[in-house]
Amino acid sequence: MQTVTIDDILKNFRSEKNPEREKRIRDAFEFANKAHLNQKRKSGEEYIQHSLHTALNVAKLGMRSKTIAAALLHDVPEDTEVTLKEIEEAFGKEIAFVVSGVTKLGKIRLKETKEELYVENLRRMFLAMAADIRVVIIKLADRLHNMETLGALQIQKQKSIAMETMEVYVPIANRLGIGEIKSKLEDLAFKHLDPENYKKTKELEEKEYGLRKKNIEKVISTLKSELEKENIKVLEIYGRNKTVYRLYQKLKTHEMDMNKIFDLAGIRIIVSDIPSCYEALGIVHRKYRPMIGRIKDYISLPKPNGYQSIHTTIFAPEGKFLEIQIRSKKMHDEVEFGIASHWIYSENKKDWKSFFSLKKDKEIPKETMTWIEQLKSWQIELGKNNKEFIETLKFDFFKNHIFAFTPLGDVIDLPEGATPIDFAYKIHGEIGNKALGSKANGKMVPLDYKIKNGEIIEILTSKERKNPSRDWLRFVVTSDAKSHIRRALKKDELS
Ligand code: MN
Repeated sequence: MQTVTIDDILKNFRSEKNPEREKRIRDAFEFANKAHLNQKRKSGEEYIQHSLHTALNVAKLGMRSKTIAAALLHDVPEDTEVTLKEIEEAFGKEIAFVVSGVTKLGKIRLKETKEELYVENLRRMFLAMAADIRVVIIKLADRLHNMETLGALQIQKQKSIAMETMEVYVPIANRLGIGEIKSKLEDLAFKHLDPENYKKTKELEEKEYGLRKKNIEKVISTLKSELEKENIKVLEIYGRNKTVYRLYQKLKTHEMDMNKIFDLAGIRIIVSDIPSCYEALGIVHRKYRPMIGRIKDYISLPKPNGYQSIHTTIFAPEGKFLEIQIRSKKMHDEVEFGIASHWIYSENKKDWKSFFSLKKDKEIPKETMTWIEQLKSWQIELGKNNKEFIETLKFDFFKNHIFAFTPLGDVIDLPEGATPIDFAYKIHGEIGNKALGSKANGKMVPLDYKIKNGEIIEILTSKERKNPSRDWLRFVVTSDAKSHIRRALKKDELS
Protein backbone atom coordinates (compact mmCIF):
# COMPACT_ATOMS: atom_id res chain seq x y z
CA MET A 1 0.00 0.00 0.00
CA GLN A 2 1.01 3.53 -0.62
CA THR A 3 2.53 5.51 2.23
CA VAL A 4 0.33 8.33 3.44
CA THR A 5 1.72 11.48 5.04
CA ILE A 6 0.03 14.13 7.13
CA ASP A 7 0.43 16.50 4.18
CA ASP A 8 -1.71 14.18 2.05
CA ILE A 9 -4.43 14.54 4.63
CA LEU A 10 -4.17 18.31 4.78
CA LYS A 11 -4.31 18.40 0.99
CA ASN A 12 -7.56 16.46 1.07
CA PHE A 13 -8.99 18.47 3.95
CA ARG A 14 -11.37 20.73 2.15
CA SER A 15 -14.00 21.50 4.72
CA GLU A 16 -13.85 25.02 6.18
CA LYS A 17 -10.11 25.42 6.49
CA ASN A 18 -8.42 27.72 8.95
CA PRO A 19 -5.03 27.64 10.72
CA GLU A 20 -6.56 26.49 13.98
CA ARG A 21 -8.25 23.52 12.34
CA GLU A 22 -5.16 22.56 10.40
CA LYS A 23 -3.17 22.72 13.62
CA ARG A 24 -5.70 20.43 15.29
CA ILE A 25 -5.12 17.82 12.60
CA ARG A 26 -1.33 18.16 12.83
CA ASP A 27 -1.41 17.94 16.62
CA ALA A 28 -3.56 14.81 16.49
CA PHE A 29 -1.06 13.28 14.09
CA GLU A 30 1.93 14.12 16.34
CA PHE A 31 0.07 12.73 19.35
CA ALA A 32 -0.92 9.48 17.61
CA ASN A 33 2.50 9.10 16.02
CA LYS A 34 4.16 9.30 19.42
CA ALA A 35 1.68 6.88 20.97
CA HIS A 36 2.05 4.27 18.22
CA LEU A 37 5.85 4.69 18.00
CA ASN A 38 7.63 1.41 17.21
CA GLN A 39 4.32 -0.41 16.71
CA LYS A 40 3.94 -2.41 13.56
CA ARG A 41 0.93 -3.82 11.75
CA LYS A 42 0.76 -7.50 10.74
CA SER A 43 1.68 -6.35 7.25
CA GLY A 44 4.98 -5.00 8.62
CA GLU A 45 3.88 -1.42 8.04
CA GLU A 46 4.33 1.24 10.71
CA TYR A 47 1.15 1.30 12.78
CA ILE A 48 0.68 5.01 12.22
CA GLN A 49 0.11 4.25 8.54
CA HIS A 50 -3.18 2.65 9.50
CA SER A 51 -4.22 5.80 11.39
CA LEU A 52 -3.17 7.96 8.47
CA HIS A 53 -5.02 5.85 5.91
CA THR A 54 -8.15 5.92 8.05
CA ALA A 55 -7.93 9.68 8.45
CA LEU A 56 -7.31 10.12 4.74
CA ASN A 57 -10.47 8.14 3.93
CA VAL A 58 -12.37 10.36 6.35
CA ALA A 59 -10.90 13.55 4.87
CA LYS A 60 -11.83 12.43 1.37
CA LEU A 61 -15.44 12.23 2.45
CA GLY A 62 -15.24 15.92 3.25
CA MET A 63 -15.42 15.56 7.01
CA ARG A 64 -14.28 18.34 9.29
CA SER A 65 -11.14 18.73 11.38
CA LYS A 66 -12.46 17.19 14.60
CA THR A 67 -13.53 14.02 12.81
CA ILE A 68 -10.19 13.79 11.03
CA ALA A 69 -8.37 14.28 14.35
CA ALA A 70 -10.52 11.58 15.95
CA ALA A 71 -9.71 9.27 13.04
CA LEU A 72 -5.98 9.81 13.60
CA LEU A 73 -6.45 8.98 17.27
CA HIS A 74 -8.96 6.15 16.85
CA ASP A 75 -6.69 3.27 17.89
CA VAL A 76 -4.72 5.09 20.58
CA PRO A 77 -6.74 4.09 23.67
CA GLU A 78 -7.20 0.48 22.51
CA ASP A 79 -3.70 -0.28 21.31
CA THR A 80 -1.28 1.94 23.24
CA GLU A 81 -0.44 2.96 26.79
CA VAL A 82 -2.02 6.36 26.28
CA THR A 83 -5.48 6.64 27.81
CA LEU A 84 -8.71 8.23 26.70
CA LYS A 85 -8.36 10.69 29.54
CA GLU A 86 -5.09 11.96 28.10
CA ILE A 87 -6.79 12.40 24.74
CA GLU A 88 -9.50 14.40 26.41
CA GLU A 89 -6.96 16.59 28.16
CA ALA A 90 -5.14 17.28 24.92
CA PHE A 91 -8.06 17.58 22.49
CA GLY A 92 -11.20 18.16 24.52
CA LYS A 93 -14.39 16.27 25.34
CA GLU A 94 -15.91 16.14 21.87
CA ILE A 95 -12.98 14.44 20.12
CA ALA A 96 -12.52 12.10 23.08
CA PHE A 97 -16.21 11.16 22.86
CA VAL A 98 -15.91 10.21 19.20
CA VAL A 99 -12.71 8.23 19.85
CA SER A 100 -14.34 6.35 22.70
CA GLY A 101 -17.29 5.53 20.44
CA VAL A 102 -14.95 3.97 17.90
CA THR A 103 -13.14 2.05 20.66
CA LYS A 104 -16.40 0.65 22.00
CA LEU A 105 -17.52 -0.50 18.57
CA GLY A 106 -14.15 -2.17 18.12
CA LYS A 107 -14.55 -4.34 21.19
CA ILE A 108 -16.89 -6.76 19.46
CA ARG A 109 -14.92 -9.90 18.84
CA LEU A 110 -15.68 -12.87 16.68
CA LYS A 111 -16.65 -15.24 19.49
CA GLU A 112 -20.38 -15.45 19.13
CA THR A 113 -22.19 -17.51 16.53
CA LYS A 114 -22.57 -15.90 13.19
CA GLU A 115 -26.18 -14.81 13.68
CA GLU A 116 -25.62 -13.45 17.17
CA LEU A 117 -22.61 -11.56 16.00
CA TYR A 118 -24.44 -10.14 13.05
CA VAL A 119 -27.38 -8.92 15.05
CA GLU A 120 -25.18 -7.58 17.80
CA ASN A 121 -22.88 -5.74 15.40
CA LEU A 122 -25.70 -4.16 13.50
CA ARG A 123 -27.38 -3.19 16.72
CA ARG A 124 -24.27 -1.53 18.05
CA MET A 125 -23.61 0.24 14.78
CA PHE A 126 -27.07 1.70 14.71
CA LEU A 127 -26.94 2.75 18.32
CA ALA A 128 -23.56 4.36 17.76
CA MET A 129 -24.98 6.06 14.71
CA ALA A 130 -27.80 7.47 16.74
CA ALA A 131 -25.35 8.81 19.33
CA ASP A 132 -22.89 10.31 16.87
CA ILE A 133 -22.74 9.51 13.20
CA ARG A 134 -19.05 10.43 13.06
CA VAL A 135 -18.19 7.25 14.97
CA VAL A 136 -19.65 5.11 12.23
CA ILE A 137 -18.01 7.11 9.47
CA ILE A 138 -14.59 6.60 11.10
CA LYS A 139 -15.38 2.94 11.59
CA LEU A 140 -16.14 2.55 7.89
CA ALA A 141 -12.90 4.34 6.96
CA ASP A 142 -11.01 2.11 9.39
CA ARG A 143 -12.58 -1.03 7.93
CA LEU A 144 -11.70 0.05 4.41
CA HIS A 145 -7.99 0.17 5.23
CA ASN A 146 -8.22 -3.10 7.16
CA MET A 147 -9.81 -4.74 4.12
CA GLU A 148 -7.14 -3.30 1.85
CA THR A 149 -4.46 -4.91 4.01
CA LEU A 150 -6.33 -8.11 4.79
CA GLY A 151 -3.78 -10.26 2.96
CA ALA A 152 -1.44 -10.05 5.95
CA LEU A 153 -3.79 -12.11 8.15
CA GLN A 154 -4.39 -15.85 8.34
CA ILE A 155 -6.79 -17.14 5.73
CA GLN A 156 -9.51 -18.08 8.25
CA LYS A 157 -9.39 -14.62 9.75
CA GLN A 158 -9.51 -13.07 6.32
CA LYS A 159 -12.70 -14.95 5.58
CA SER A 160 -14.48 -14.03 8.78
CA ILE A 161 -13.55 -10.36 8.51
CA ALA A 162 -14.62 -10.33 4.87
CA MET A 163 -17.93 -11.92 5.87
CA GLU A 164 -18.53 -9.37 8.57
CA THR A 165 -17.70 -6.62 6.11
CA MET A 166 -20.22 -7.89 3.60
CA GLU A 167 -22.97 -8.40 6.17
CA VAL A 168 -22.52 -5.44 8.47
CA TYR A 169 -20.34 -2.73 6.99
CA VAL A 170 -21.55 -2.81 3.39
CA PRO A 171 -25.24 -2.44 4.31
CA ILE A 172 -24.43 0.39 6.67
CA ALA A 173 -22.31 2.25 4.13
CA ASN A 174 -25.16 1.69 1.72
CA ARG A 175 -27.75 2.93 4.16
CA LEU A 176 -25.71 6.04 4.80
CA GLY A 177 -25.41 6.46 1.05
CA ILE A 178 -21.61 6.44 1.04
CA GLY A 179 -21.30 4.75 -2.34
CA GLU A 180 -17.59 5.40 -2.57
CA ILE A 181 -16.77 3.28 0.49
CA LYS A 182 -19.59 0.82 -0.03
CA SER A 183 -18.40 -0.30 -3.48
CA LYS A 184 -14.81 -0.63 -2.38
CA LEU A 185 -15.74 -2.69 0.68
CA GLU A 186 -18.06 -4.85 -1.37
CA ASP A 187 -15.46 -5.71 -3.98
CA LEU A 188 -12.76 -6.37 -1.37
CA ALA A 189 -15.08 -8.63 0.62
CA PHE A 190 -16.19 -10.48 -2.52
CA LYS A 191 -12.56 -11.05 -3.45
CA HIS A 192 -11.86 -12.82 -0.16
CA LEU A 193 -15.15 -14.66 0.18
CA ASP A 194 -15.37 -16.06 -3.31
CA PRO A 195 -11.95 -15.68 -4.95
CA GLU A 196 -12.83 -17.90 -7.89
CA ASN A 197 -15.89 -16.01 -9.05
CA TYR A 198 -14.22 -12.73 -8.25
CA LYS A 199 -11.35 -13.58 -10.55
CA LYS A 200 -13.61 -14.88 -13.32
CA THR A 201 -15.86 -11.82 -13.21
CA LYS A 202 -12.95 -9.43 -13.08
CA GLU A 203 -11.33 -11.00 -16.10
CA LEU A 204 -14.60 -10.95 -17.98
CA GLU A 205 -15.11 -7.33 -17.13
CA GLU A 206 -11.62 -6.32 -18.17
CA LYS A 207 -12.04 -8.12 -21.47
CA GLU A 208 -15.43 -6.55 -22.18
CA TYR A 209 -14.33 -3.13 -21.03
CA GLY A 210 -11.27 -3.44 -23.23
CA LEU A 211 -13.53 -4.06 -26.22
CA ARG A 212 -15.45 -0.90 -25.46
CA LYS A 213 -12.58 1.29 -24.40
CA LYS A 214 -11.80 2.85 -27.78
CA ASN A 215 -15.47 3.39 -28.39
CA ILE A 216 -15.90 5.07 -25.03
CA GLU A 217 -13.00 7.39 -25.65
CA LYS A 218 -14.40 8.33 -29.04
CA VAL A 219 -17.86 9.06 -27.66
CA ILE A 220 -16.39 11.08 -24.81
CA SER A 221 -14.43 13.35 -27.10
CA THR A 222 -17.42 13.81 -29.44
CA LEU A 223 -19.77 14.64 -26.58
CA LYS A 224 -17.27 16.93 -24.96
CA SER A 225 -17.02 19.16 -28.01
CA GLU A 226 -20.77 19.01 -28.71
CA LEU A 227 -21.59 20.06 -25.15
CA GLU A 228 -19.03 22.82 -25.27
CA LYS A 229 -20.50 24.07 -28.52
CA GLU A 230 -23.85 24.43 -26.76
CA ASN A 231 -22.25 26.21 -23.83
CA ILE A 232 -22.92 23.52 -21.30
CA LYS A 233 -20.35 23.53 -18.59
CA VAL A 234 -19.06 20.00 -18.19
CA LEU A 235 -17.42 19.53 -14.81
CA GLU A 236 -16.37 15.97 -15.48
CA ILE A 237 -16.85 13.39 -18.19
CA TYR A 238 -15.32 9.95 -17.93
CA GLY A 239 -15.71 6.28 -18.73
CA ARG A 240 -16.91 4.08 -15.93
CA ASN A 241 -17.09 0.42 -15.06
CA LYS A 242 -19.54 -1.53 -13.01
CA THR A 243 -17.90 -2.82 -9.85
CA VAL A 244 -16.92 -6.49 -9.95
CA TYR A 245 -19.41 -7.55 -7.30
CA ARG A 246 -22.32 -5.66 -8.88
CA LEU A 247 -21.50 -7.14 -12.26
CA TYR A 248 -21.41 -10.64 -10.76
CA GLN A 249 -24.80 -10.11 -9.11
CA LYS A 250 -26.28 -8.88 -12.35
CA LEU A 251 -24.80 -11.72 -14.38
CA LYS A 252 -26.33 -14.21 -11.97
CA THR A 253 -29.81 -12.88 -12.68
CA HIS A 254 -29.16 -12.93 -16.46
CA GLU A 255 -27.97 -16.52 -16.92
CA MET A 256 -24.36 -15.26 -16.86
CA ASP A 257 -24.99 -13.82 -20.32
CA MET A 258 -22.85 -10.75 -20.89
CA ASN A 259 -24.99 -9.66 -23.84
CA LYS A 260 -27.88 -9.00 -21.51
CA ILE A 261 -25.95 -6.49 -19.45
CA PHE A 262 -26.47 -3.03 -20.83
CA ASP A 263 -24.74 -0.99 -18.19
CA LEU A 264 -21.44 -2.84 -17.91
CA ALA A 265 -19.55 0.15 -19.16
CA GLY A 266 -20.62 3.65 -19.69
CA ILE A 267 -19.93 7.30 -19.52
CA ARG A 268 -20.70 9.68 -16.73
CA ILE A 269 -21.26 13.36 -17.37
CA ILE A 270 -21.25 15.75 -14.45
CA VAL A 271 -22.66 19.20 -15.03
CA SER A 272 -23.32 22.15 -12.79
CA ASP A 273 -27.12 22.21 -12.47
CA ILE A 274 -30.39 20.48 -13.28
CA PRO A 275 -31.30 22.37 -16.48
CA SER A 276 -27.88 21.44 -17.87
CA CYS A 277 -28.67 17.77 -17.18
CA TYR A 278 -31.69 17.87 -19.48
CA GLU A 279 -29.92 19.95 -22.10
CA ALA A 280 -27.06 17.49 -22.07
CA LEU A 281 -29.51 14.62 -22.50
CA GLY A 282 -30.95 16.32 -25.58
CA ILE A 283 -27.51 16.70 -27.07
CA VAL A 284 -26.59 13.07 -26.37
CA HIS A 285 -29.77 11.90 -28.12
CA ARG A 286 -29.24 14.21 -31.04
CA LYS A 287 -25.82 12.70 -31.56
CA TYR A 288 -26.55 9.04 -30.80
CA ARG A 289 -29.69 6.96 -31.14
CA PRO A 290 -31.08 6.06 -27.72
CA MET A 291 -32.32 2.57 -26.93
CA ILE A 292 -36.06 2.65 -26.36
CA GLY A 293 -37.17 1.85 -22.86
CA ARG A 294 -33.75 2.57 -21.39
CA ILE A 295 -34.18 6.27 -20.70
CA LYS A 296 -34.59 6.74 -16.98
CA ASP A 297 -35.21 10.09 -15.39
CA TYR A 298 -34.32 9.66 -11.75
CA ILE A 299 -34.17 13.42 -11.38
CA SER A 300 -37.93 13.86 -11.70
CA LEU A 301 -38.52 10.52 -10.07
CA PRO A 302 -35.70 9.78 -7.62
CA LYS A 303 -35.13 6.21 -6.53
CA PRO A 304 -36.53 5.42 -3.07
CA ASN A 305 -33.06 5.86 -1.59
CA GLY A 306 -32.93 9.40 -2.99
CA TYR A 307 -30.66 8.57 -5.93
CA GLN A 308 -30.87 11.15 -8.71
CA SER A 309 -29.44 11.03 -12.24
CA ILE A 310 -30.57 10.63 -15.81
CA HIS A 311 -29.66 7.33 -17.45
CA THR A 312 -29.89 6.57 -21.12
CA THR A 313 -28.44 3.77 -23.22
CA ILE A 314 -27.20 4.70 -26.66
CA PHE A 315 -26.01 2.81 -29.71
CA ALA A 316 -22.38 3.77 -30.01
CA PRO A 317 -20.61 3.90 -33.40
CA GLU A 318 -19.06 0.41 -33.26
CA GLY A 319 -22.35 -1.27 -32.57
CA LYS A 320 -21.92 -1.71 -28.84
CA PHE A 321 -24.30 0.09 -26.56
CA LEU A 322 -23.19 2.40 -23.82
CA GLU A 323 -25.02 3.69 -20.83
CA ILE A 324 -24.72 7.42 -20.26
CA GLN A 325 -25.38 8.86 -16.83
CA ILE A 326 -25.94 12.57 -16.45
CA ARG A 327 -26.11 14.31 -13.10
CA SER A 328 -25.27 17.53 -11.32
CA LYS A 329 -22.26 17.90 -9.05
CA LYS A 330 -24.45 17.87 -5.98
CA MET A 331 -26.22 14.70 -7.02
CA HIS A 332 -22.85 13.14 -7.69
CA ASP A 333 -21.44 14.06 -4.29
CA GLU A 334 -24.52 12.64 -2.70
CA VAL A 335 -24.04 9.31 -4.46
CA GLU A 336 -20.36 9.14 -3.55
CA PHE A 337 -20.37 10.57 -0.07
CA GLY A 338 -23.97 10.19 1.08
CA ILE A 339 -24.54 11.45 4.53
CA ALA A 340 -21.02 12.86 4.59
CA SER A 341 -21.88 15.16 1.69
CA HIS A 342 -23.97 17.21 4.11
CA TRP A 343 -20.77 18.48 5.59
CA ILE A 344 -19.27 19.30 2.25
CA TYR A 345 -22.09 21.73 1.71
CA SER A 346 -22.05 23.05 5.22
CA GLU A 347 -19.52 25.71 4.37
CA ASN A 348 -21.91 27.69 2.31
CA LYS A 349 -25.36 28.16 3.65
CA LYS A 350 -26.80 28.97 0.25
CA ASP A 351 -25.55 25.75 -1.20
CA TRP A 352 -26.77 23.87 1.79
CA LYS A 353 -30.25 25.23 1.32
CA SER A 354 -30.50 24.59 -2.38
CA PHE A 355 -29.17 21.11 -1.84
CA PHE A 356 -32.13 20.25 0.33
CA SER A 357 -34.79 22.44 -1.23
CA LEU A 358 -34.37 20.43 -4.37
CA LYS A 359 -35.89 17.44 -2.66
CA LYS A 360 -38.42 19.47 -0.79
CA ASP A 361 -39.96 20.80 -3.98
CA LYS A 362 -40.62 17.31 -5.18
CA GLU A 363 -42.79 16.54 -2.19
CA ILE A 364 -41.90 12.91 -2.08
CA PRO A 365 -44.61 11.17 -0.08
CA LYS A 366 -43.39 10.47 3.42
CA GLU A 367 -43.96 6.76 3.15
CA THR A 368 -41.57 6.35 0.27
CA MET A 369 -38.83 8.37 1.86
CA THR A 370 -36.08 6.40 3.43
CA TRP A 371 -34.93 7.44 6.84
CA ILE A 372 -32.03 9.29 5.30
CA GLU A 373 -34.47 11.28 3.27
CA GLN A 374 -36.41 12.04 6.39
CA LEU A 375 -33.21 13.06 8.03
CA LYS A 376 -32.68 15.59 5.32
CA SER A 377 -36.13 17.04 5.54
CA TRP A 378 -35.77 17.38 9.27
CA GLN A 379 -32.61 19.27 8.65
CA ILE A 380 -34.52 21.79 6.59
CA GLU A 381 -36.94 22.25 9.43
CA LEU A 382 -34.07 22.60 11.81
CA GLY A 383 -32.62 25.12 9.39
CA LYS A 384 -32.62 27.98 11.82
CA ASN A 385 -30.44 26.07 14.19
CA ASN A 386 -28.26 24.78 11.39
CA LYS A 387 -25.11 26.29 12.73
CA GLU A 388 -25.41 24.67 16.07
CA PHE A 389 -26.44 21.45 14.41
CA ILE A 390 -23.42 21.43 12.16
CA GLU A 391 -21.11 22.34 15.01
CA THR A 392 -22.07 19.45 17.21
CA LEU A 393 -22.70 17.18 14.23
CA LYS A 394 -24.96 15.12 16.37
CA PHE A 395 -28.04 13.69 14.85
CA ASP A 396 -30.20 14.45 17.81
CA PHE A 397 -33.37 14.02 15.86
CA PHE A 398 -32.61 10.36 15.71
CA LYS A 399 -34.46 10.66 18.95
CA ASN A 400 -37.64 10.88 16.91
CA HIS A 401 -36.68 7.69 15.24
CA ILE A 402 -36.02 4.22 16.51
CA PHE A 403 -34.44 1.15 15.04
CA ALA A 404 -35.77 -2.23 15.98
CA PHE A 405 -34.55 -5.60 14.81
CA THR A 406 -36.17 -8.78 13.66
CA PRO A 407 -34.84 -11.94 15.33
CA LEU A 408 -32.78 -12.43 12.15
CA GLY A 409 -31.18 -9.04 12.45
CA ASP A 410 -33.06 -7.08 9.81
CA VAL A 411 -33.33 -3.47 10.78
CA ILE A 412 -36.78 -1.95 10.86
CA ASP A 413 -36.92 1.79 11.27
CA LEU A 414 -39.94 3.23 12.99
CA PRO A 415 -41.16 6.54 14.32
CA GLU A 416 -40.98 7.08 18.04
CA GLY A 417 -43.93 5.55 19.85
CA ALA A 418 -44.27 2.69 17.38
CA THR A 419 -45.72 -0.54 18.70
CA PRO A 420 -45.24 -4.21 17.83
CA ILE A 421 -48.27 -3.89 15.52
CA ASP A 422 -46.53 -1.12 13.56
CA PHE A 423 -43.46 -3.33 13.45
CA ALA A 424 -45.47 -6.32 12.21
CA TYR A 425 -47.06 -4.38 9.34
CA LYS A 426 -43.67 -3.05 8.32
CA ILE A 427 -42.56 -6.62 7.79
CA HIS A 428 -45.63 -7.93 6.02
CA GLY A 429 -49.36 -7.22 5.87
CA GLU A 430 -50.20 -10.82 6.74
CA ILE A 431 -47.96 -10.79 9.79
CA GLY A 432 -49.79 -7.70 11.00
CA ASN A 433 -53.22 -9.17 10.35
CA LYS A 434 -52.41 -12.38 12.18
CA ALA A 435 -50.49 -10.88 15.08
CA LEU A 436 -51.42 -12.32 18.45
CA GLY A 437 -48.61 -11.41 20.78
CA SER A 438 -45.13 -9.99 20.81
CA LYS A 439 -41.77 -10.19 22.52
CA ALA A 440 -39.18 -7.49 23.04
CA ASN A 441 -35.67 -8.85 23.67
CA GLY A 442 -37.22 -12.22 24.43
CA LYS A 443 -39.81 -11.00 26.96
CA MET A 444 -43.54 -10.96 26.31
CA VAL A 445 -44.88 -7.44 25.85
CA PRO A 446 -48.40 -6.18 25.05
CA LEU A 447 -49.26 -5.28 21.46
CA ASP A 448 -49.47 -1.59 22.36
CA TYR A 449 -46.00 -1.66 23.93
CA LYS A 450 -43.81 1.28 22.90
CA ILE A 451 -40.72 -0.16 21.24
CA LYS A 452 -37.37 1.14 22.42
CA ASN A 453 -34.37 1.84 20.25
CA GLY A 454 -32.32 -1.26 19.52
CA GLU A 455 -34.80 -3.86 20.75
CA ILE A 456 -35.24 -7.17 19.02
CA ILE A 457 -38.94 -7.63 18.35
CA GLU A 458 -40.60 -10.94 17.71
CA ILE A 459 -44.19 -11.18 16.51
CA LEU A 460 -46.24 -14.23 17.45
CA THR A 461 -48.94 -14.98 14.91
CA SER A 462 -51.95 -17.24 14.86
CA LYS A 463 -53.30 -18.99 11.79
CA GLU A 464 -56.76 -18.83 13.33
CA ARG A 465 -56.74 -15.09 13.46
CA LYS A 466 -58.53 -13.74 10.39
CA ASN A 467 -58.61 -10.03 11.03
CA PRO A 468 -56.85 -7.28 12.86
CA SER A 469 -58.61 -5.74 15.80
CA ARG A 470 -60.31 -2.37 15.42
CA ASP A 471 -58.80 -1.48 18.79
CA TRP A 472 -55.36 -1.40 17.27
CA LEU A 473 -56.25 1.81 15.47
CA ARG A 474 -56.13 3.55 18.83
CA PHE A 475 -52.42 3.00 19.35
CA VAL A 476 -50.66 2.37 16.04
CA VAL A 477 -48.62 5.32 14.80
CA THR A 478 -47.52 4.44 11.27
CA SER A 479 -49.78 5.14 8.33
CA ASP A 480 -48.74 1.77 6.97
CA ALA A 481 -50.37 -0.03 9.86
CA LYS A 482 -53.46 2.18 9.83
CA SER A 483 -54.20 1.62 6.18
CA HIS A 484 -53.62 -2.12 6.41
CA ILE A 485 -55.97 -2.42 9.36
CA ARG A 486 -58.70 -0.32 7.73
CA ARG A 487 -58.43 -2.27 4.50
CA ALA A 488 -58.67 -5.61 6.27
CA LEU A 489 -61.67 -4.51 8.33
CA LYS A 490 -63.46 -3.14 5.28
CA LYS A 491 -62.93 -6.34 3.35
CA ASP A 492 -64.39 -8.25 6.23
CA GLU A 493 -67.52 -6.09 6.32
CA LEU A 494 -68.11 -6.54 2.61
CA SER A 495 -67.74 -10.30 2.63
MN1 MN B 1 -8.20 0.83 13.40
